[in-house]
Amino acid sequence: MIVMKFGGTSVESAAAIERVAGIVKARERQRPVVVVSAMGKTTNKLLAIASAAVAGKREEYLRQIHDLRDLHSREARRVVPLSERAGLDRFLDENFQELTELVKGLAVLGELTPRSIDAISSYGERLSSYIVTLAFRHFDLAAEHLDSRDLIVTDRRHTHAAPLFAETYRRLAAAIPPIAAKSVVVMGGFIGATEDGVTTTLGRGGSDFTASIVGAGIGAEEIQIWTDVDGMLTADPTILPGGHRVKTISFAEAAELAYFGAKVLHPATVVPAVEKNIPVLILNSRRPEVTGTRIVAEAVHCANAVKSIACKRQIAVVNIHSTRMLMAHGFLHRIFEIFDRFETPVDMVATSEISVSLTIDHLERLEEIQSELRQFADVEIEKNQAIVCLVGDNIRYTPGVARRVFNALDGINIRMISQGASLLNLSFVIAESNLRPTVAALHGEFFSQLDDAVFERNEAVHA
Ligand code: ADP
Ligand code: ASP
Ligand code: MG
Repeated sequence: MIVMKFGGTSVESAAAIERVAGIVKARERQRPVVVVSAMGKTTNKLLAIASAAVAGKREEYLRQIHDLRDLHSREARRVVPLSERAGLDRFLDENFQELTELVKGLAVLGELTPRSIDAISSYGERLSSYIVTLAFRHFDLAAEHLDSRDLIVTDRRHTHAAPLFAETYRRLAAAIPPIAAKSVVVMGGFIGATEDGVTTTLGRGGSDFTASIVGAGIGAEEIQIWTDVDGMLTADPTILPGGHRVKTISFAEAAELAYFGAKVLHPATVVPAVEKNIPVLILNSRRPEVTGTRIVAEAVHCANAVKSIACKRQIAVVNIHSTRMLMAHGFLHRIFEIFDRFETPVDMVATSEISVSLTIDHLERLEEIQSELRQFADVEIEKNQAIVCLVGDNIRYTPGVARRVFNALDGINIRMISQGASLLNLSFVIAESNLRPTVAALHGEFFSQLDDAVFERNEAVHA
């Protein structure tokens, strides 16, 4: 068995779904289990509908629901066999009716809870997975739909629920192999349910995580993440187009890149894969002939110090300064306890005797955090910052990486630096307005020479 996960753009339209059917059919002998995201930008649209509802914008949310139904119905009708059309219409009627009821309920309450956000955002994957199942049948693939909410059991942390692995693996191993022996199993990514059956989601971009949970649960030979780029690239293409493809990378390097913003992979994806030592591949559904990126346990030997540059935008630096804490112990404890209480992860930290600078990218609770910190310290916040993170297993063995970074960034103000925590990254904070020139300069510095064993040069841009 293999797991094949197709992201939003890979199932955004009838044409995209047809391409997916072709890719799956070509691998039918490997007994694929297919995990799909919501079609295109559906999750964003569902969240916008929920916001419009609580804001009491009735016309707006009704129109948005109508448009979303139109999109699903129009694209699905092009890939669903005539014999299944009645079933499709009934399915869409039921789901959109339920969704509309739910949204109207929200409008009455005027309050959005994490639980109701999950209830609404789950519709994207519920719809797409069913439509893709019918489409596969249209393209002569035997396919069976499974509801992920019966299989992925999670805790109750709505909007970022964590799977309860033992029970989830038990259910996956019992349900999937017998069906996969005869048909392609199709299920939605991103969604799950608590033990009492309340719908949850694994967090934005969570379909990658679903794919690796499923892969680990059924002991798959491979987990394939099909997306809209050729694989892990040497730079985020939305910041610097023309990066080179990284052909192979270690789990540790990929996890670090994902954590520091390489959206192509959800940061938790590698966890189940590492545990069961299942290779993860990143592949392009528009160019299936490209071999993509292979993520494996051990880093292969590489002459380049750096494998890729990741970035996190919209970071805030929090500077905390307290003369009262001079020589007093427990300063850091007191600070981190506050961030912990407001469920706000801290990414980078730098300290001196009486000051601490740290970065966060979840700014929702910042006001509350600030007011707690002010009880014993002066607090200053700098918004619109970015973290740039160089990742490569070789960084730890290569002298002079920091010198090359600072030389390349001559004239750009570096706000914070961190190296050493994981040994395989060097990260620093700059103003977001400097992001593009920073990444361009570093890319020039670290990727003008490429080790062919690890990288595939992007000839189009760098010829
Ligand atoms: P999907 O819908 O298939 O899950 P995502 O949009 O979540 O796709 O992830 C793919 C996107 O990740 C790419 O289109 C690209 O813009 C972005 N990305 C960021 N950093 C990188 C990187 N280092 N290599 C490749 N893609 C990256
Ligand atoms: N549809 C979800 C999202 O947009 C999950 C995913 O695509 O991975 O975040
Ligand atoms: Mg994604």
